[in-house]
Order: sequence, then C-alpha cells, then structure tokens
Amino acid sequence: MLDTALRVRQINKVLRDMFDLGTEDACLGRSISELLGVSESLTGTLEDVLECGEMRSGLAFERPDIEDGRYYLAGISKAEMEEGQTLLFFMVSDITAYKKIEERAQYLAQHDALTDLPNRSLIYDRLDNACAFARRGEGTVVTMLIDLDRFELINQSLGSTYGDEVLKQAATRLNVCLRESDTVGRTGGNDFVMILLKMNDAADAMTVAKKVRVALAAPFQIAGDQLYLTASIGIAVAPGDGDNAHELLRSAAAALHQAKKDGRNQICFFQAEMNQHAQRNMYLESGLFRAAENFKFELHYQPKVNLRTGKICGIEALLRWEHPEQGVIEPVDFIPMLEENGLIVPVGTWVLRTACAQAVAWQNMGIKPYCIAINLSAVQFHRQDLCVVVQQILKETGLEAKYLELEITESIIMKNVDRGVKTLHELKSLGIKLAVDDFGTGHSSLSYLKRFSADVLKIDQSFIRDIATDADDATITRTIIDLAHNMRMQVIAEGVESAAQLDFLLRNNCDEMQGYYFSKPLTIDDCTAFLKEGRQLAFAAK
Ligand code: C2E
Ligand code: MG
Ligand code: MG
Repeated sequence: MLDTALRVRQINKVLRDMFDLGTEDACLGRSISELLGVSESLTGTLEDVLECGEMRSGLAFERPDIEDGRYYLAGISKAEMEEGQTLLFFMVSDITAYKKIEERAQYLAQHDALTDLPNRSLIYDRLDNACAFARRGEGTVVTMLIDLDRFELINQSLGSTYGDEVLKQAATRLNVCLRESDTVGRTGGNDFVMILLKMNDAADAMTVAKKVRVALAAPFQIAGDQLYLTASIGIAVAPGDGDNAHELLRSAAAALHQAKKDGRNQICFFQAEMNQHAQRNMYLESGLFRAAENFKFELHYQPKVNLRTGKICGIEALLRWEHPEQGVIEPVDFIPMLEENGLIVPVGTWVLRTACAQAVAWQNMGIKPYCIAINLSAVQFHRQDLCVVVQQILKETGLEAKYLELEITESIIMKNVDRGVKTLHELKSLGIKLAVDDFGTGHSSLSYLKRFSADVLKIDQSFIRDIATDADDATITRTIIDLAHNMRMQVIAEGVESAAQLDFLLRNNCDEMQGYYFSKPLTIDDCTAFLKEGRQLAFAAK
C-alpha cells in the first residue's frame, strides 16, 4: 500500500520475500521505485492512477540486475479511505517461471531440437531481413546450402541414433566456420544452410565453402567408429540470384542439385540456366504425369553377348519416354522424377509385365528363349509386395522364372541392407536371376556382396570407358572379373563401344558384354529382326 508520494505504507510478507526486503519496518516510508527498482515509466503509471483513479493491470516489469533476470506483473488501483486518505494498492506477481517457459517455447519454435541450430523458420526470417539490406544496395548476402553426401545411407544402414550423432557433430563443425555476423541453420534432414553477410564477392563465398569442406573432412568419431564424410554445396548470392529468402533458397537448391549431379563433394554457384532447368523439369513432370496415367512409354531392348560363343545370351529392357513436344527423354532425366512422385511403382510394374510379355511373344515366334533383364528402382525394390508382384506377372504372362533377370544397383540394396538381402533371397527362391548393376560405383563391402547371392555382376560403364588406355580402370575391371569368378558369379561389361575394349575383356576372361559395339538398345521391330537374323559378335578367337 503506497501513499500519494509513492512511499510504502504497508507491505506484506509475500512481497517482502519476493524481493528479499527483510522486515516490514525496514521498508516503511521508502519510495517504491527505490525499494523494488521499478522503472520510471511504471512510476509514471502509478502517478496517472493517482490522478485519474482508473485501475490498471498487466503491467510488466523486470529486474535484469539480478542473475538470470526476474519478471513481474503489476496491478494498481486507487482507494479513498474512510479517514479521507488516498492510497494506492500496488499488487505484484512473480511470472518468471511462465516467462522462462514462454522463452523456451519461442526458442524451440525457431531452433532445431537436435543440433540447436536455427530452424527453417528462423533462417527464413534472417534471410528475408538480410535480403532487404541487399536490395537497398547495402551489401551482398551469400546463401550456402550444405548437404552431407550419402547421409541417407548412414542413417539407414547404421541407424538413426548414429545419424543424429553425425548431424550434431557436423553442426558443431559448421559453427566454427562462421564469423559473428553469419548464421548456420538446419532446415531438415541433412540440409544445413549458411547465411553470410557482408561478403565482398563470389571469391569470399568460395573461401568459406572450402573452409566448410575442410571442417567436414576430418574423420567423425562415432560410437568407436571413424567415419569419413563429404558434402555437396550450392551457393546463391543476393542481389542477383534472388530478391527474398524464398528465391534465394530456391537458387541455392538448384546449385546444390547441380553439385550433386556433378558427382557430389562439389561446390557449385547458381547460374541462371539452372532455374530454366528447374522450370523444364516442372514442365516435363506435368507431361510425365499424363504419360504415366496411360503408360505412354516404350521399352527398347539391348542384347547381351556371350564372349565365348559370340552369341546373344540375354536382352535388357530399357525404358523410353517420348514427350509429345520434346522428343525422346533420357531415363536419367525422368526416372528420378517418377521415383520422387511414387509413379515409378505402377510404371515399374508396367515395365515388368510388358517385358515379360515380349519375351514370351519372341518365344512364340519360334525365336530361341532368352533371359530378359529388367531394372528395378529403389522404391520398387524396397516395397513389401515386390515378390508377389513378380510372381503374379510371371504367372500372367506365362514366362518361366529362369528367363527373368532383375538388375539392382548396390546402392539400392545398401539403402536397407538386411531387408534388401532378405528380398534378394526371396526373389532368388522364385527361380529368377539376379544381377548387381553398375557394380563398382556403390558402397557395398565384399562381405555384403557375398550375402547378396547374385548371379551376375555388371561392371559399370565408367570403368569400361577407358580400360584400353587407363591402367587404373584396367586393374579395377580385371579385379572385378576375378572377384566375380571367385565368388562363382558371372560377370558382364556394360557400355562396350570399341574393339580395343572388347579385346581387353576377351583377354581377361570376361563372360559377357553389352554395348553399342554389338548393338544399341533397339525398338521391338528392330530387335525382333536382329534376333531372327541370329546376329553374332565377330571376334578373333584368342
Ligand atoms: P543401366 O541399367 O546401367 O543401363 C545401361 C545404360 O547404358 C542404358 O542407358 C543404355 O542405353 C546405355 N548403354 C548401353 N550400351 C552403351 C554403350 O555402349 N555406350 C554408352 N555410352 N551407353 C550405353 P539408358 O537406357 O539411358 O538407361 C539409363 C539407366 O536408367 C539404366 O542404367 C537404368 O539404371 C535406368 N533404367 C532404364 N530403364 C529402366 C526401367 O525400366 N526401370 C528402372 N527402374 N530403371 C531403368
Ligand atoms: Mg541395367
Ligand atoms: Mg548399368
């Protein structure tokens, strides 16, 4: 209770304890502003109430002077006492605990709980603010998207606790690369964002990007393991690559996409064409939706040749899409889109059914039966019902299981090794053949390879390309051939284009080959003619 001079007339124990004020006697007569350290503006409000008599509540004040800070809410009302005295009631509640919860909630809404870094929403805010400066010509803003290469694989093969630890350690390392004015955040999954202010030019951004790569290059120590990581980095700069957070992040994402496409572990700056590329992708994607609805695709067929006899020994079905305006689109451009939007499942089933039916059709024409090979995508392979679907299609089309071969890349199997190996065994028990496609480019270890129980290894094109000239590629190819044979598998070389490559493969006992040197992928009619003709590979017997 205060008098008109705002001095204490009466003060209860609760308030005294709250402010650690001692006895009531020690408080009486002292001014409220001095006693509780209330601000001038609150003293002003007390005077207003005294003058107008209007009650006030919800007046926040704080004491930043004490450790951790404390927060209070005050209410004031005026009372005319019977004795003719005017008094003010000053009521205080300590709301520190609520305030701390509120602050924490606000913090959590803006930070990533795992790494404690700013989250997407805070990054957007900060980036939008920074862009406003850039628009006014007050500096350059660099946005850098950092993606840990093949992180998904770590998460899926070693577990998410392990993956989380990688992310935490990566976050700590990224923080070290920053100057005070910069921000690093995590926008989801294994995506980190850096906002760099006051950069002079692209070269400055490059310096930071290289620093990031160095920071991530040292081995990660996790659960007693040493793990090596690389990162792909996409960079966009404002002004120029975007006017606001949304545009700038989109540009950086396009640059990141390019960095990954260039083989990962790359730094890539945004270029205007990348947006055109993204737009083309959107345009293609809408066409792809329509095509997928009616399965307006085609299969081309590429023969494989036995290198002992020179005769055709199998045929691989390869998916083709002819866009009504853009012409034939490469599988590398549209299969990832089908995978992203889930359409690969119905389209993949269509491929399986169409290719099996074609194999039967050739047999019915009196052509010698060949094994037909079909590529499976990750989404298809990891679906629970794969075996059922395969079995059903074999039954429907009447193709014997031994004439079906499924090609699966190592990285697809490695996405979830235990389940993958189980699926391979189930497929195998149906009596079909299994091939590991693009062998040498994935990350499977030899111990896994043994568990795959595959029949065939397909050596990736990238090794075959230079076998005749590059000693390393020659050694790798020779090693894969020996490895396959030691593990009782057949081995086939993909992408054979020249006599010199063929010669190398013959000399090194490769079992089969596939490539333009013998035949490109063919339309049904061309392939039918080719098979009827009984064309053989001509080579000098060694
Ligand atoms: P892949 O299974 O490794 O197929 C081999 C690729 O190499 C094919 O490309 C083929 O046309 C090409 N090729 C064959 N011989 C040569 C050669 O001598 N030189 C060169 N430079 N290339 C050669 P394509 O048809 O563009 O297919 C690319 C990839 O798309 C395939 O790689 C496969 O992973 C995927 N794919 C194709 N069809 C399907 C499908 O029906 N389903 C799924 N999930 N993936 C498919
Ligand atoms: Mg293949
Ligand atoms: Mg391949």
